[in-house]
Amino acid sequence: MPSRRRIRAKSCESKRRYATSSEAEATAKHRRQESGHMDLDIYPCRFCSGWHIGHTEPKKKSL
Ligand SMILES: [Zn+2]
Repeated sequence: MPSRRRIRAKSCESKRRYATSSEAEATAKHRRQESGHMDLDIYPCRFCSGWHIGHTEPKKKSL
């Protein structure tokens, strides 16, 4: 079952890693301004203990 490995490849290995949340956030902020994707967010990685930037998971809108 390669699913776990595939998740890692998608959410970690294929992305740029940031050592700190502030570094990731600074880059995410820049990317939001450049791309207009306001849903870009940072998240702590459970695989490499670093931080990555990605689109937040769609959540149920309570409003
Ligand atoms: Zn990672």
